[in-house]
Amino acid sequence: MKNNNKSLLYNEKCPLCTSDDCLLYWQGQNPTRDYLHCQHCDLVFVPSRFQLCSEEEKKIYDQHENNPQDERYRKFLGRLFAPMSTMLSKPSKGLDFGSGPGPTLSKMFAEQGHQCAIYDKFYANDTSTLGKDYGFVSATEVVEHLANPKDVFGMLFSLTEKTKGPVGIMTKLHPQDRKSFMQWHYKNDPTHIAFFSHITMEKLAKSYDRDLLILGTDVVIFTNKKRTS
Ligand SMILES: [Zn+2]
Repeated sequence: MKNNNKSLLYNEKCPLCTSDDCLLYWQGQNPTRDYLHCQHCDLVFVPSRFQLCSEEEKKIYDQHENNPQDERYRKFLGRLFAPMSTMLSKPSKGLDFGSGPGPTLSKMFAEQGHQCAIYDKFYANDTSTLGKDYGFVSATEVVEHLANPKDVFGMLFSLTEKTKGPVGIMTKLHPQDRKSFMQWHYKNDPTHIAFFSHITMEKLAKSYDRDLLILGTDVVIFTNKKRTS
């Protein structure tokens, strides 16, 4: 069965907008797991029964070889770093959320005269960093791993609530038709469980009263809302 019937197999609400109007979108073979599609916010997500446990997840992240000396990795991060930098007044204090096993973006911000704290569930788990106000927040290759994107996005926006500083995200936005989704390799990574689209991001921006800048297919920056009055 590969159609868009309402799934009788699941009773899961959307982990982003909590809508219970979620349809079976795709049944994957490699890995074998299903994908549900929220009819309200356009999030595609993997039901909890197919999600890895933390230990399995960390084993995969431990194999990532990102490091601050890697010019290709810096260039990749630069697609978010460059536009965000132009939005900041120096010196600014920020947070790189989900900084991973080889924190790099925080160093790039520091090289530009900013202070950038890091937080990572597995590699820099100091939750005191999540109780402060920041002039900017970044999360690269993070949100596609989230089982609870509603809570995490709520927190990322709350960290910049006072300053209204930019919140920059890197994640590949999912294609708009199912045929392209079928062929989309990004969905096959077993640690990837939440897939956003430009529609999802627009809804998030509206909910949190931010403006939205989308660059290409994987860079999203939520900015302070420009008031017209
Ligand atoms: Zn939703």
